[in-house]
Formats: sequence, structure tokens, C-alpha cells
Amino acid sequence: MPETVNSSNLAIYGGPKAVTSLTGGDPKLGLEELREVLDLWPLSAETRAKVDAALEAEQLAAGPHLFRYYGPTESKVSQLEKQFAQKFESPYALAVNSGTSALITSLVALGIGPGDEVIVPAYTFFASPASIVTARAIPVLTEIDDTLCLDPKAVADNITDQTKAIMVVHMAGMCADMDPILEIARERKLFVIEDCAQAEGGTYKGKHLGTLGDCGAHSFDFYKLIAAGEGGMVTCKDEFVAMRAASWHDTAACWRPDRYASERREGELFAGENYRMNEMAGAVALAQLAKNDWFISNNQRVKQAVLAGLKPHPRVQLQRIPDSGEASTGLVFFTPTTEDAIKVAQALRAEGIGAGGTFDQTVRDWHWYVHWEHILEQKTATSEGCPYTCPYYKGTLPDYNVDMCPKTRDYLMRAVRIGLAPTWTAEECAAIAQGINKVTAALL
Ligand SMILES: *Cc1c(COP(=O)(O)O)cnc(C)c1O
Repeated sequence: MPETVNSSNLAIYGGPKAVTSLTGGDPKLGLEELREVLDLWPLSAETRAKVDAALEAEQLAAGPHLFRYYGPTESKVSQLEKQFAQKFESPYALAVNSGTSALITSLVALGIGPGDEVIVPAYTFFASPASIVTARAIPVLTEIDDTLCLDPKAVADNITDQTKAIMVVHMAGMCADMDPILEIARERKLFVIEDCAQAEGGTYKGKHLGTLGDCGAHSFDFYKLIAAGEGGMVTCKDEFVAMRAASWHDTAACWRPDRYASERREGELFAGENYRMNEMAGAVALAQLAKNDWFISNNQRVKQAVLAGLKPHPRVQLQRIPDSGEASTGLVFFTPTTEDAIKVAQALRAEGIGAGGTFDQTVRDWHWYVHWEHILEQKTATSEGCPYTCPYYKGTLPDYNVDMCPKTRDYLMRAVRIGLAPTWTAEECAAIAQGINKVTAALL
């Protein structure tokens, strides 16, 4: 016999509720987490004691919503995207968790993958060619010129029927000479991806780096001009590309903008990665973004002042500067030989000038191709060897070897680089210039 149910007893029919109250609040993130974050800042003991005392008295109902979506207040990451897009005049900006993921996202969003070749300079941080391999395309290592960025002539020479894109890198603060590269891309119908990781805030002929090509990839890792520990941004012009980027960066293509919508157009819905930026990085990058103008204008002031103090020397060739809007993080010149570069850099350091170079082959410098064993030997994470063995790839693989870019090698083996600091005064800039004049006059 089934038990008789008195249905009028159910809350749904007006009866008493089984549960009338539950303890509220979200104890997940409290003041303990804030204290851990504060530990990261080298506050004076006095300030820290005051902050701790104030926190002691705080009755925190709920901690911060560190996920960029669904929060009760406007997300720091969305504010960062809005301000970044506005400041750098880009129609779309999508925050991601690193510069590497920004590069991969750009490639995937543009539809680049198996069977495709992407042109990339032989002098860049390893992440640029690595992102191409991760996107399962073939990196075509290409010569640089006296700008230490892509050589347009070498780009034209390396284009094949498989080429889909040119990845331009604004390397070590410099802006690449974009006009001839954009011209080639237009003629040959290729996408242009700008790697801005080392030149955030720089411009070329009045346009912000990252907005000249189809996509811009930006990095906020600790060593970059805009630093958030880790982080990145994808900028682009096309709405569909922006949506594909957003889909790739969030596993289930949730932000298209209706997360539960079916595919409206082919190429919209697919399985992605998780490259989302978290609110902590968003908050730090937001503050950093506001300081970028100061860094860029002072870098440029310092570089102009040092350059103005240099005496022309017949055996010193300055790095060509395509546009003075470059981020100006360093001053580079070429000496006649590698031995000269080593000697000059040593002498400059003795003068108190932080000079270095890429000439020391015993140091594994991930910034130029001779050390990219993973690419040169076509090493892959899984044993089938994709993308190099990909059946969709109908081209002929580049002849990967340490001598494949002799011009790049020649420039880098003779380059002396002096890192510049935005804080230097006019007197300090004059002293640096004088030191360079003294050393080059005596040794070259
Ligand atoms: C740092 C860097 C990257 C990668 O950025 P991460 O945020 O470290 O992943 C890509 N390209 C260049 C030129 C870089 O210097």
C-alpha cells in the first residue's frame, strides 16, 4: 500500500517550507587572500602594519569575483579591453592569458592551420615561431635587415603557394618598416599578424603598432612595456575574426556573443582552448596601460637625446629606424666585425654603460634562430611529427639549418645594444653619448 501523501502539506500547495533559511555569504575569497597579494608589494613595515590593522576591523561579506564573467561589478578585464581598444584605436580587443596565446589565437582566428606556411623573422623571441607550430602551420624563418625586423625583399622571396600570412615582429622596441610589407601582403593576398610584445605603445607613421595588419598580438608578461606578470591581448579589425578569437580563447566558444546559440555561419562554433585572462592580471594591466604614455614618451626623449650626442663614425652603422614612433627601448649599432662588437660592448660596460649583444654563441639566446633547435630539428610534442609531416601540406619544407639566414646572422653578430631607461636625465643621456663616442673613437 502506498503511503498516503497529504499534498496540502507541500510548500508548492501552500504548506510550510522544509528550508526556511540558510547561512549566506561566500567564504571562498577573504582577507587572507588579500594579505597574500599585499605580500607581493614591498610595502614598508609601517604601512603594512596600518593596512593590517585596518583589515582586521573589516567585516567582509564577500570576496572579489576573480573570474572575468558573471561578476556583480564591471570586470577589470572588460575595462582593460575597452580602454586598450580605445587607446590604441583598434575596433576589437580581446584579453588573453599570454602573448603566446595571443599569437596562437590570431593565427587560428584568421583560419591558419594545417597545410599553411607563415613567414616569421629569424630574429624574435621563440614564442613567435612556436605559436605557428602550435597552430599546426609551417614557420618559414625569414631574414631581417638593418632595422633588425623583417626584410621586405626576403619576405617576397619566401612566398609560396602555401603562404597564408606574414608574422611581423616589432623587435626589441623597434617598429618594422610596415609599408613595403603591407604592400606585399596586399598584392599576394596574405594576412599580416603583428607581434607587438616588445613594442607596446609604439607607432609607425602615426598608427598604433598592432593596428596596421589584420591582427595584433600583445604581451603583458613581466618583462614587457605593459606588465601584469602574465597576460596578453589580441587586436583585430574584422568582426568575424574577433568572434573566432573569442571562441578559441574560451573552450566552449561561449562568447559569440550568445553563448548558447547555434552556429549562424560556418567557422563560428568549434572546440577551443582556455586562454581567458583573470581579474588579477586585468586589474594590474589596467593600471599599467595608464602609464604606457609616460614610458613611451620618456623612452623616446632619452633615445633622441643620446642619438643627438653621438658623433658620426665611419665604422659605426646605426640601426635603421623606420619611424621615430618606435617604442625606443634600446639603441643599437653595428660594428665592422664580431670581434669589434665584443670589444666595444666590454669597453662600454667598463664605462658604466649597459651594453650587450647577440654575438655570444655560447649563450643560448632564444631570440634568434640559430638557437631554435626545436624548429631547426623539427621537434614536435607527439611522434607523428605534425605539422612538418602533415598530409595537408603540399609545399616543400624550408631547409632548416643554422646557416639558412646568413644576413640575420651577420647583423646580429655585429650588433651592440644599449638598453635605455625612461628615467635618464639630459645630463645622463649626454654622458652615455660621450661614452659611446669615446669607446668607438678609440677602438674602431
Ligand atoms: C614575450 C614575447 C612573446 C610571448 O609573450 P608571452 O606573454 O611571454 O607569452 C611573443 N613574442 C615576442 C617578440 C616576445 O618578446
